[in-house]
Amino acid sequence: MFIKEVAASLYPWDLADQTAEVCVDNLVEHSNVNSVYLVGVMHEEKRPLTSLFYTLNPVRKYYLPENSRVYYHVDGEDFANTKMKPAFTEREFLKQKDWLDDLIRVARKRGLKVGVEVSHTFYDTAKAAGEQPELLQKDVHGNAIPMFFCSNNPDVREYMKALFLSSVKCHDVDFIQTCMMLFNEGKPVAQPWFLKEKDPQNRLGHLLGTLKGGCFCEHCGAKARKMGYDWDKIKADLTKLADTAEAVLHGNIGQVMEAHLLLGSNLTDAGFLLENPSLYQWLEFRMRCVTELFSDIYGAVKAVKPEVEFRYNNYLTYPEYAGLDFKAVRDYVDSVRDSDYSEQTGAKDDFRYKQNTLLKIRRGIGCEKPVLAAFACRPNATPELIRESLKIVSTLGIDGLSLGHYDGATFELLDAVKEGMKNAGMEVCTK
Ligand SMILES: [Zn+2]
Repeated sequence: MFIKEVAASLYPWDLADQTAEVCVDNLVEHSNVNSVYLVGVMHEEKRPLTSLFYTLNPVRKYYLPENSRVYYHVDGEDFANTKMKPAFTEREFLKQKDWLDDLIRVARKRGLKVGVEVSHTFYDTAKAAGEQPELLQKDVHGNAIPMFFCSNNPDVREYMKALFLSSVKCHDVDFIQTCMMLFNEGKPVAQPWFLKEKDPQNRLGHLLGTLKGGCFCEHCGAKARKMGYDWDKIKADLTKLADTAEAVLHGNIGQVMEAHLLLGSNLTDAGFLLENPSLYQWLEFRMRCVTELFSDIYGAVKAVKPEVEFRYNNYLTYPEYAGLDFKAVRDYVDSVRDSDYSEQTGAKDDFRYKQNTLLKIRRGIGCEKPVLAAFACRPNATPELIRESLKIVSTLGIDGLSLGHYDGATFELLDAVKEGMKNAGMEVCTK
């Protein structure tokens, strides 16, 4: 089969420590990579993520990034209409360069596709929690949800649009990718202790878990009312339901029997939604908000450079519980990357989750738009698992592959990409 793209991510500190030339040449040589992108706005997360120490980095053993810094130039004027302003690195070794332009220069010389990623959080989450909690989503009891910004807040919406627009406007990129966090999807409610065999999918528990998520802020309330929803009823109904969900999570003795009867039963998630139309309406409201957000960002990107691709990097098990409906956003994305990394946990389900998710995305966005299957090329993946994974995804009509991530890879695992593609009869054809 033919695919168009083999993509790989790089971080600014990878480029600073190894040089962009060495990183890119390793990826091209060992893994057939023809597309590279800078994780240009990165959240606070220890790197490498899934192993203690770096494998290919000659300068440091590990790295602790700052919170949601922008590692390239953006135009300050683009942020004039929001009180949120981008923050840049304060680390001396990273101050010296525009890391996106550095990667673009090297990629263009080699004829590669090049892009930039805005990762999970696009603004300093610690600063927001301490100084600007009004930017954050609120749970049903009015508590701020750390790390999750509410895109219905006009400042947040404007900042998001400005960040995407400015990134594209100021740099010669082919695509801008994001795995930005959407509505907080809460925490799945566990099945009760007395069930001997638990359902690994626990769909009702995931649905109930959303009641611990967001958002119930004043901006969401105003928007919902404007859309015609009875927000007061929704909020009152969901406050009661959230108490049932909390009974399981926190052992509220008053409602524990009711919660156990519910989760011990085989009522479907559809059955529960039929009983609770307010929950359905709230989930639908969130989905309409995320669709509008995608439309706004897509419009902002296309207004400055229509040829630049807007790519969503899906990391959600149940995107619908974060407000994302792939069918609804199909006109506002150009491609989707699915960031399943089953290889690093031994693919105990024989890649079933990966297959289901890729087909779910394909069903949503249609056959005209590219879907890229990600895979882990970092410990504890093995060359065998990578080869097996590529063989399976080669049967699923994918348009590209995407490595996750070079900063934890070994040459053995990078070589397995090339071998796996050959074994699976997968060739890169960009025509
Ligand atoms: Zn809100």
